[in-house]
Amino acid sequence: MKRIIILGATGSIGRQALNIISRHPESFMVAGLSAHHDTDGLLEAAELYGTRQTCLSGSRSNLVRYSGSEGLLTLIRDTDADMVLNAVAGADGLAPSFEAIRSGKDLALANKETIVMAGRLVMEAAQVLGTKIVPVDSEHSAIFSMVERFGASSLKSVIITASGGAFRDYPLEKLATVTPADALAHPTWNMGAKITVDSASMANKGLELIEASRLFNLDPDRINVVIHPESRVHSFIRTLDGSLYAQMSRPDMRIPILNAFSWPEYIEESVADMDPTDIAMHFYNPDLKRYPLLGLAFSALADGEGACTAYNAANEVAVEAFMREQIRFPGIYDIVAGTLDTNFQSRLDDIDAVMAVDSMARTMAESIVKEHQ
Ligand code: NDP
Ligand code: MG
Repeated sequence: MKRIIILGATGSIGRQALNIISRHPESFMVAGLSAHHDTDGLLEAAELYGTRQTCLSGSRSNLVRYSGSEGLLTLIRDTDADMVLNAVAGADGLAPSFEAIRSGKDLALANKETIVMAGRLVMEAAQVLGTKIVPVDSEHSAIFSMVERFGASSLKSVIITASGGAFRDYPLEKLATVTPADALAHPTWNMGAKITVDSASMANKGLELIEASRLFNLDPDRINVVIHPESRVHSFIRTLDGSLYAQMSRPDMRIPILNAFSWPEYIEESVADMDPTDIAMHFYNPDLKRYPLLGLAFSALADGEGACTAYNAANEVAVEAFMREQIRFPGIYDIVAGTLDTNFQSRLDDIDAVMAVDSMARTMAESIVKEHQ
């Protein structure tokens, strides 16, 4: 029986994780839960899954055991558990990831920001402390399970697949007038708001290629991105002999969540079974004019750790501004590109250095948002 703490339990990943635990009560149990503001959602889940280890990280409440961002770290530290699923949205997920590693718990990692901001530091800490990081992001889960089978030394390169998001087939000139509601209409995946907007701009794929580079120790020239509208192949790996291997299922995040929970075993589940005769699959190269944030992520990766942290921070600020209708959709790129005009350090030695770049990039991005209004 694996005891699992779920951070961000009221979100898209968090709820699917709870569903997986319900489907496999003989294998997993909830050891603790967090939400940011959604008290009702948190208490309902706590009751249903029988835990009193609850934290509301964004508000104070007498109805839960821990509150605030320090409370979230205490929940992780003080709860008897084998694994932490980090399904917090955004840069605030970084500190909880470190706390999970520091307290000797394995980390099922949906919060890709952790790896984009501080991948090398997090991976080094996990190695020193003997904890495992298992990715939940579907592309990285796919690559992870193939690399586990073939061995890292057989890996030549990876190809990350992308749906192309809500605007894949829009005329380019219409992108200046799309609304937040248009961006939230994802063709294949049902996810939280921020990541859905990032799918439309492909900043999500930008974050994911940085994530892949850090998780699997790959230089940028060993990572490629292809558009695959059907979202059945979750990524490819190319082995040294040139063969391509793919992992496929219907698009359902419960599979990567389950595989992270059950690692290193596989357990029986059929929610995303697919039949290859059901669907014709297509693959093509992304147009960087449509998705300039993807090209920018490759440049940030080449520039180093500071640029990657700044890319994430500036994009979070820009997406919030777009959601509040302060800027237009193409403005997201302008804000991230404007922020990355500054030279950031290529190596960030500790978390303080990471947080300093994060906050500097946010300030810069916010001032560019003001110029755009
Ligand atoms: P959601 O917005 O649906 O859920 C976010 C969860 O985190 C909620 O429980 C929310 O609580 C909580 N939360 C929000 N802000 C904070 C904060 N500042 N500190 C602590 N907790 C917070 O997001 P998703 O589930 O879509 O995504 C979560 C993470 O997983 C992201 O990093 C995303 O990139 C990644 N991911 C998501 C995928 C998906 O399919 N959704 C796929 C691959 C990766 P409350 O409800 O109270 O606001
Ligand atoms: Mg993904």
